[in-house]
Formats: sequence, C-alpha cells, structure tokens
Amino acid sequence: MNQSIDFVKIFEHYNRYLEIELDQERITHSQLLNLINKYKTEQTLSIEKVGESIEQKDIFCISMGSGNRNILVWSQMHGDEPTATAALFDLLNFFRCNDEYDFYRHSIFNELKIHFIPMLNPDGSDYHQRENKISVDINRDSLRRESPEAKLLWDISRKANPEFGFNLHDQNSYYTAGRVNKSSAISMLAPPYNFENTINPARTKSMQLIGSINKTLSRYIPGHIARYKDDHEPRSFGDTFISDGISSILIESGFIKGDNKKETVRKLNFIALIAAFNSLITNDFEQMNQHDYYSIPENESLLFDLLLRNLNTSVNGKSFKIDIGINREKKFDKETNKFFYKSKITSVGDLENYFGIEEHNLDGFIVKPGSIFDKVLKSIPYTDEIERMHKNGFTTIKFDPFSIDFTYVEKPINVVPSYLKYNPSITVDEYANLQILSDDKLKYIVVNGFVCPLENYSNSILNGIVIS
Ligand SMILES: [Zn+2]
Repeated sequence: MNQSIDFVKIFEHYNRYLEIELDQERITHSQLLNLINKYKTEQTLSIEKVGESIEQKDIFCISMGSGNRNILVWSQMHGDEPTATAALFDLLNFFRCNDEYDFYRHSIFNELKIHFIPMLNPDGSDYHQRENKISVDINRDSLRRESPEAKLLWDISRKANPEFGFNLHDQNSYYTAGRVNKSSAISMLAPPYNFENTINPARTKSMQLIGSINKTLSRYIPGHIARYKDDHEPRSFGDTFISDGISSILIESGFIKGDNKKETVRKLNFIALIAAFNSLITNDFEQMNQHDYYSIPENESLLFDLLLRNLNTSVNGKSFKIDIGINREKKFDKETNKFFYKSKITSVGDLENYFGIEEHNLDGFIVKPGSIFDKVLKSIPYTDEIERMHKNGFTTIKFDPFSIDFTYVEKPINVVPSYLKYNPSITVDEYANLQILSDDKLKYIVVNGFVCPLENYSNSILNGIVIS
C-alpha cells in the first residue's frame, strides 16, 4: 500500500458509513436479521449462518477478503454490550463503499481475511442481559464450552486459525484512564494467559497492536484511553486464545461525558478497527514495544455519576463531614421496552481522590434523607403537586400496593407500597434520595440520584423508582 490513510479525514467522513438502523442503546436479534438480509447480495461479503443460540436464534459470520492472514472479530458475547455491534456494521458499510479509501480496502481484501461475528449472544441481546439464556457468562465458558455460543466461537477459531482475535465489549462508565479525572472512553487489554502474567509471542503482538491503536485514538481523545486490568481469567476467551497462539485484543467501549448514547464511543470503535487493520497490513505495529503498551494508563474505578462533596450530617447530636458518591444504574424494563435509572448511594466518607461525572461542592450544607409523604395514594400525583412535595422535602410517596403494576415511575417521585416499613437513610447501598439544607432552609432535593434545585426550581429528574 503506497498511500497512507488520513485519520483526520476518515474521522470527518464517518457519517457516510454510519448504520442508522441501529440504536446503540440496545440492539435486538431482529434488527440484526434485517441487516443480514440487506447484506445478502453484497459482493464483497460472504455471510454464513454458523450456529444457533439456546432459543434457536441464528448466529452469523460475515467474512470478507481473500488474504492469507485470518482475523476473527466478535461482538456482544455479553448481550447488554451492543456498542461494538453497531460499530461493526458501520465498518461493514465502510467496506461496501467506493470512495477515496479504495486503496485501503483493496489492501485489506488482498492481505487479510476477516471474519466478523456480530452478536454472539442473541438471547442475551434480546433480554438486554450480560449472560445467555441459561445465565451462563459466555466469556467464562471458554474451557467447558457448555453454551452453544461458546462452542461456536471455539469451533470457528479452530477452523479459521486467526492470527488476531478482537473481543469487543462495553465497560461501565465509572472507569478513569489512570488516577485522574478523565473517563476511560476506550480500554484495551492484551490478556494474560497465566497467573504469573508472563508474555508469549502471541501476547507480545497483541501489546504491539494495542500500542499502535492507542497512538491513533489518542489524537482524538488524548488522556481518555486506558489499559484494562490484567487479572488472569482462565475461562475467558481472550486468555484461552492467547495461550493458544492467537493474538487476542480486548476492546472495551467506555464513556465520555455528554455521550450518553455512546455515539462517540461507537465511532472510536470504528476508528480503532480501521487503525488496527491498517497497522496489520503496513506492519506498523512491529515498531511498537511493551513499553508503548504499559505506558497506557490503567483503568481505575474512580468515577461516580454524582459526587456531592463536603456535606454535614448529624447523628445523635454530633455533626460529621461527608462526601456522598451516587451511581445511576441504567436498567431495561422488559414490560415497557424502555430504559430507566435506579440510583443508589455507592460510597460515603472521604472521596477526595474520586471524581463525579456531575459534582457539587456543598460545603456548609446539611444533608438528611428524603422524606416519605405519609398519605396512601392510588395514582401518581400531577407535576405541580410533585413540585410542592419536593419543596417540602418529600422524595417518595406511599402507594396502595394493588395499584402498583409498574417497576419504575416516569414522574420524578419514588413509590413505596404502603405495607412496607421503609426508613430512608444515608448509607451505602441505600436508594439515593436526599434533602440538602442551608440555614434551616431546604435548598436542593435529590430524587433517585438526580439533583433538583428548589429556589430556581428546575427538575431534570429522569424517573422515580418503586422501592421494594
Ligand atoms: Zn463484556
């Protein structure tokens, strides 16, 4: 390849290849089938059904290129981690196009044979859960291979004998790239194949290629790339493959502030794979060494969705200074087919060395648990009634248990069944409902982990929950 790829331009041109049919918050098997149908007549790609999930949903392998270096890429072995599946279809769109990057495509087609398995776990994807239908984590089944999905991945790896294997996942949004206030947007790992964490030739190549991908990605998001922790897990595919001579690379899609639908992270996945393939055909990765890999900062779990600093809490007449870290867990409701948040207090105390995606310094403010509105209700109050409740410190209402046929509330108030003896408190693992006061005046209310100022009342609380 004489020309070199312009990574600034390709980043700008990404929208040409974006697969608009995929909503990256959740991807179902029927969406996958639609795309597979669309691709059936595509000359550059060959599509093969390679197996079925436990619920007999088809799993596909899409191959392209006629080179003699085999590459295996799989996504969504964890059903609730769809970002890379969307990025793979963007990438396939890229390879179906004809434009100024044809020189790159031709080199890829000539030198590599790439096998993509998008959505290895269709049952988990449909339920938006990590595990497969029988609750087995496919990435803990590489040795026993009891799940059909794990067996299938293993069989393809035997057949294709890949030089590199890309294992694509999503990680939670609480990681930083090193001990700094920079979220980890992409983290990568050359998996260890033993507990001694030694290095074999296959792992060396993974480290080199990660060094090379990091160099490209760092242009777009400097400081936001991390190295995934290298604890050995013998049952995971990356570790098993690397002991077997396949240079495995784990890529985890993380989080960047403001990118709640992970559109940017998806784009970075796309770029990471373009960069990886480019580095393979130019053999650029061979210029990299272990130091390039180990100098990538390690993933640290230092972020909270909400960090409230320097509050005062009173217990038995004594006052204590505390920080409160709160995480908003995003849940999928199968009844309504919608996502909702269920927030909890994750840490209390000195959180000086931690960071909040949203932070408030509340020095001098007093914190108390949110109150429960005592009257038993049969329907969710109107918005203006809820506003009055907030202004009086109420974060939760008591509800007639027979009227509760939902798992979350679309309005900014929580619900507790009237029979439940519920005592809100500021403790770890408790729901995140708080009153924040200054000079005996209520200034803020926190409902389900969302802060609402009461003086210029503005409510950005996305939903309440059913406390049970
Ligand atoms: Zn995963």
